[in-house]
Amino acid sequence: MTLSVHLFPYLADNYGYLLRDEASGKVACVDAGEADAVLNALKQTGWQLDELWITHWHPDHTDGMDELRQQTGCHVIGPGYKGGRALSFDKTVQGGDQLTFGTQEVHILHTPGHTLDMVNFYLPRAAAVFTGDTLFAMGCGRLFEGTPEQMYQSMEQLRALPPETEVYGGHEYTQANARFALSVDPENSALQARAAQVDKMRAAGLPTMPTAMQAEFETNPFLRYGDARIRAHLGLENASDAAVFAEIRSRKDRF
Ligand code: ZN
Ligand code: FE
Repeated sequence: MTLSVHLFPYLADNYGYLLRDEASGKVACVDAGEADAVLNALKQTGWQLDELWITHWHPDHTDGMDELRQQTGCHVIGPGYKGGRALSFDKTVQGGDQLTFGTQEVHILHTPGHTLDMVNFYLPRAAAVFTGDTLFAMGCGRLFEGTPEQMYQSMEQLRALPPETEVYGGHEYTQANARFALSVDPENSALQARAAQVDKMRAAGLPTMPTAMQAEFETNPFLRYGDARIRAHLGLENASDAAVFAEIRSRKDRF
């Protein structure tokens, strides 16, 4: 079943996504940091917004929510977990929930770490996952509210998705992520090649989203805590996966 995805940048480095289930014509938007950016994207595509899906409470993902609901009458779906500020959703969701969006199934993943309320939207029929600020290309979100252990469990959930899954993350952080990834995984030739390709894409003004989960398995250090070379590089050959993840995350904070 076909899903069309329209990516649009907003603010300094955010990405929003409009989704259209082609069989039913249903349209959703993932996150709304800026109402105007979403309204412009709707104008460009000629699509009419049915639903707004919120990943987490941070203002760069939610500031445009109320205006967008007012202007389009869209139905707002957001995380049913406590976040940093109270938001009024029309429907709340939790990990394990399943929604129907046209002919698509939408599986809700709770992926705390960046925030405690974070949810991701996985559409198995379209092989797509919208990861908010949990998983980025070659990176993961900074831990503002959750513990490294929680984020590690969130990585485990995402790592279980099929390799062909397309990953749509909330920010264009890819070049900086690649530089950090090379600092902990310098001999990874797939990573070296990807870093060079990303530099070319950014020089040409192209977005580096979406990315395939397979590419993340091969190059994203935050999913590679089991990798022998990375463990050796960190001197953590015998540590638990969670401890290796925590060390990589803390190095990124100091990078
Ligand atoms: Zn955020
Ligand atoms: Fe963000």
